Amino acid sequence: MRVSRRSLLAGVASAPATLAFPGLVPAAWSSEADTAEDGAAAATTQVPGIQRFSVGDIKVTAVLDGFFDFQFDWVIGMDEVEAQRLLADAFLPADRLRAAVNAYVIHSGDRTILVDSGTRDAFGPTLGRLLQNLAAAGVDPASIDTVLVTHMHPDHINGIVTAEGVAAFPNAELVVQEAEWAYWTAEETLSNAPDDFKLFVQLAQAAVKPYEGRVRLIATDMEVAPGVSAMALPGHTPGHTGYLVESGGDALLVWGDTVHLPMFHFAHPDWTVIFDGDPRAAAATRSRTFDMAAAERLKVAGMHLQFPGLGHVIRDGAAYGFVPAGWEYEL
Ligand SMILES: [Zn+2]
Repeated sequence: MRVSRRSLLAGVASAPATLAFPGLVPAAWSSEADTAEDGAAAATTQVPGIQRFSVGDIKVTAVLDGFFDFQFDWVIGMDEVEAQRLLADAFLPADRLRAAVNAYVIHSGDRTILVDSGTRDAFGPTLGRLLQNLAAAGVDPASIDTVLVTHMHPDHINGIVTAEGVAAFPNAELVVQEAEWAYWTAEETLSNAPDDFKLFVQLAQAAVKPYEGRVRLIATDMEVAPGVSAMALPGHTPGHTGYLVESGGDALLVWGDTVHLPMFHFAHPDWTVIFDGDPRAAAATRSRTFDMAAAERLKVAGMHLQFPGLGHVIRDGAAYGFVPAGWEYEL
């Protein structure tokens, strides 16, 4: 199952610290200082990527880390004609598969809980804005007491550590599902990895290092923080985990990488991506999660859904659709 990754990452093997995803064209995004003389921001860069939602008494802040572009040949099982139809129907460019990288802050009582942490600089300059956007949301990294990890891929965990190897969240306990931890920290995972996959493993191992002594391993189907329980969503990685936030009869499932490509996956949950460790299990989990979310009218949040990544899954014939959540005027 990892063979398919080789072709994907073939061009990446020679890249040093930064994975060179060939689709990244970040001209506008990489310009930091687009500010006019009088201090007024010019309207050529986007405003901060933050948005707030309520789940009963719990508040959730969506925080954008950035975006990257999938390559079409990273999608397994895709029918090209159907793919072009879906892109056209969604008013999207025919030649680009843009995916957000989102993270979420859960404000539960006096607790400040971060779910995933973005990429830092692992995937190039269109990403790594998490800390900047947290600041815009008024969230001090030192105030985060818990980091919940959906899985240990670099676009989810690399943001927990600074480029200097220091914990980006100095007071946080790191919470990881036990099978996920076992896989990524095992010496043989690194030694058995194909060369072009080794960087993923090295980044995961380096990211967790400064958290030594304050890592909590969890099982699923259990409460892991006040109002938050862990849900097994395996397939994409061995211990891929969702976090169900519940308060006052309201609920939100932060589902990690259940969807990579919203333009395709609701219509075709069986299309997989080369990053899936076990593609068949990933697709099965996706369909099962869609069924559950649609049947229970459960609000969901996803790391690669278009920012802020919140909404509802609906049934659409034999397939599914997604209805994004709108702005909340009162929290
Ligand atoms: Zn991801």
